[in-house]
Amino acid sequence: MTSKQTTALPTAEQEWRTAIEHAACCLACQTPAAMCETGEALLAAYSSAARQARSGDAG
Ligand SMILES: [Zn+2]
Repeated sequence: MTSKQTTALPTAEQEWRTAIEHAACCLACQTPAAMCETGEALLAAYSSAARQARSGDAG
């Protein structure tokens, strides 16, 4: 295993892009009163990935 390259949270960033790309074309995500299960799931995936990346990088 090589741990040379340490870019800024590649996995979390990909999850984040997926979430915002969904929200960009999802009416439910753009409506504060409405709830979007997909949007919440994507955000949860991003949050999990971000936490894993941070904890794994910090050591
Ligand atoms: Zn949505």
